[in-house]
Amino acid sequence: MQLKIYNSLTAEKEIFKPILEGNVGMYVCGPTVYSNVHLGNVRTFLSFDFIYRSLMHLGYKVRYVRNITDAGHLTDDGDVNNDRFVKQTRLEKLEPMEIVQKYTVDFHKVLDMFNFLPPNIEPTATGHIVEQIELTQKLVEKGFAYESNGSVYFDVLEYNRRGLQYGELSKRNIDELFANTRDLDGQGEKKNAPDFALWKKASPAHIMRWNSPWGEGFPGWHLECTAMSTKYLGEKFDIHGGGMDLKFPHHECEIAQGKACNDVAPVNYWMHANMLTMNSQRMSKSTGNYILPMQLVSGENDFFEKAFHPSIVRFCFLQAHYRSVLDISNDAMMASEKGFIRLMEALKVINNYKPEENVIQNKDSAFNLTEWKNKAYDALTDDFNSPVLIAHLFEAVKFIFALNDHKENISNEDLEDLKNILNALVFDVLGLKPVEENNNEKLDQTLQVLIELRNQARKSKNFDLSDQIRDKLLAEGIELKDGRDGTTYVLN
Ligand code: AMP
Ligand code: ZN
Repeated sequence: MQLKIYNSLTAEKEIFKPILEGNVGMYVCGPTVYSNVHLGNVRTFLSFDFIYRSLMHLGYKVRYVRNITDAGHLTDDGDVNNDRFVKQTRLEKLEPMEIVQKYTVDFHKVLDMFNFLPPNIEPTATGHIVEQIELTQKLVEKGFAYESNGSVYFDVLEYNRRGLQYGELSKRNIDELFANTRDLDGQGEKKNAPDFALWKKASPAHIMRWNSPWGEGFPGWHLECTAMSTKYLGEKFDIHGGGMDLKFPHHECEIAQGKACNDVAPVNYWMHANMLTMNSQRMSKSTGNYILPMQLVSGENDFFEKAFHPSIVRFCFLQAHYRSVLDISNDAMMASEKGFIRLMEALKVINNYKPEENVIQNKDSAFNLTEWKNKAYDALTDDFNSPVLIAHLFEAVKFIFALNDHKENISNEDLEDLKNILNALVFDVLGLKPVEENNNEKLDQTLQVLIELRNQARKSKNFDLSDQIRDKLLAEGIELKDGRDGTTYVLN
């Protein structure tokens, strides 16, 4: 079976050939931890969690690196993230690293809630300042970067002069870049507007700062990913992922830094996940068009009519291909909930199915397991096509219910095969988790049984037993109260 991956660099679906057979190095840009992640961020990370799970299921040994951007970086439209970061620290009166810790913990909680697998390495930008200074020095030495007023910039024109094609990922040409880029963060320090900062001089107000050969400052955002991916995956690795919006300038700059430093294109397959929209507009903190994951799961929001379990959110996201835009809506969530419940019911049926109870024995089945399996894996290996995979899972669901109604037939061997494949695809690859039974409901049912038994004991004047039931429950913190309308209980 051949895995095909859509490569944003070539704009084509390509047969995946890892650098080292059987092994995959994958780097995904992580969150900026100056505030809570919104549901849009979760979608991108979920797309790569599914891709990571799929690669492992297909037999690859994967080293998955996802960084934490933990302060001090600037973007090309000015020192935006740093500004926000400073505002946030003032607002909350916290130490910078306290903010970082708070939102890193929150990020991990969110990922846990949605059943994400942790990456193999989760490096932080502030933990790799030395590597970033070294990279900047190397770029200056090689003539790809220049110092200006305590900051260091990457020389895009020089890079192109050497025939290295800045703009190859985002398909922009240099003239267009010159026409459309304004020198917002350079304050006249840059030679040319498209140049980007590798190291930035810290103004007196700047909170996070480090010593460098160019004075006190902090690294440019694009550099951290080059530093960390090179350190943990090598100068050239297999897959680099992130949201579509990171293609330019972030990933374009990463390619330039990698090629300029190491004379080799850093990444073989660039993968970009598409955006989550709400009200048909991209989810984003800056426009206010966003929802936090907890608000969706708890039901505390004005947009959805009820709360949705994290597994249903996960299922809803996976019903769209990672390269398609997904518009989240109440209807979409309701439909996903219905589908999810049906899928879980079918899994329960097949996992408890006893073939000897099946009355039809020698009838040919309309369900061809081998064909079905091939179709499911064709979808998975066709650029991780989760919606088509899910559609095939529902063919199996239909068959399982027919089997349960004695309208279908399966051999013992096929039954085992079907069970194994379905469980692996649903739980390991899609990463879904069954919604736990409502424990409160079960407790209530159990207590009603005990109250009924106690009533019977009292009726037959077995006060010993009825008192025992009451006292033992009380010892467990459950108090029975006898009233005119019968017995109720209070949980203490
Ligand atoms: P940030 O913390 O802003 O760097 O974003 C973390 C990740 O979320 C990046 O890969 C972004 O591309 C991605 N992202 C941001 N907004 C959305 C959105 N509305 N839908 C999907 N992914 C998003
Ligand atoms: Zn990055």
